Amino acid sequence: MLMHTNTTVRRSLTRKVRQLYSKLHPTPCLLCHRLTEYHSICEACSQSLPKLGPHCPRCAMPSPDGHYCGHCLTKPPIRHASVSLFRYDYPATKLITQFKFHHQIHLCHYLGEQLAQHITTLNRPLPQQLIPIPLHAMRIRQRGYNQAAELTKVLSKQLQISMNQHCLSRTKATQPQTSLAYKERKHNLNAAFRCKMRPEVEHIALIDDVLTSGHTADAAAAVLIEQGIKTIELWTIARTIRHYG
Ligand SMILES: [Zn+2]
Ligand SMILES: [Zn+2]
Repeated sequence: MLMHTNTTVRRSLTRKVRQLYSKLHPTPCLLCHRLTEYHSICEACSQSLPKLGPHCPRCAMPSPDGHYCGHCLTKPPIRHASVSLFRYDYPATKLITQFKFHHQIHLCHYLGEQLAQHITTLNRPLPQQLIPIPLHAMRIRQRGYNQAAELTKVLSKQLQISMNQHCLSRTKATQPQTSLAYKERKHNLNAAFRCKMRPEVEHIALIDDVLTSGHTADAAAAVLIEQGIKTIELWTIARTIRHYG
């Protein structure tokens, strides 16, 4: 109890120090360029981001009242649940591109905190471990960081769930999924992941920035299910709506 209280005090202090720093050093909003005291995204732009809304609990495709979609009723994906915050439309696309390809790593705080807040409103059992979708070593060298791992660090702190960066590795430097036609994506991912160390838990969440076809997450989920993991969720910042079928 005391440890929990200390952690809460420390988190709130860290937030307060950051807020104070932002107040003293406002930065231009990445979207509208007005000075903002919060994370480089002003409140108005934050409100204008395209929320995903009710979606299928299994694949995160929009669905009225959040019911299972027809696709998941007949041919569900390997992962058991998907949570996503935004539609992958402008201006969410701009934030994610800046975060992923333009070294704006600090955006992991804004995006991770928004996602963590959303997860807590869902009011359902939390996973025991968070696992970032790994990048191949070659891509880490090109980019300098794994955006999924940066997001996972923030989620882990916010939700007090441990992060496991060591159980999965990417064995193939696959072509970026976005550069391939839908049908080529699944093939591109054959044997793309390897489990180096079995996580000693039953319920995990895989973390990634964008959910497109879902094949990347499912390739990782298949490897973890082989290791005896019972429940695998996928948490992403945004969900592409058009690539599906
Ligand atoms: Zn703004
Ligand atoms: Zn679905």
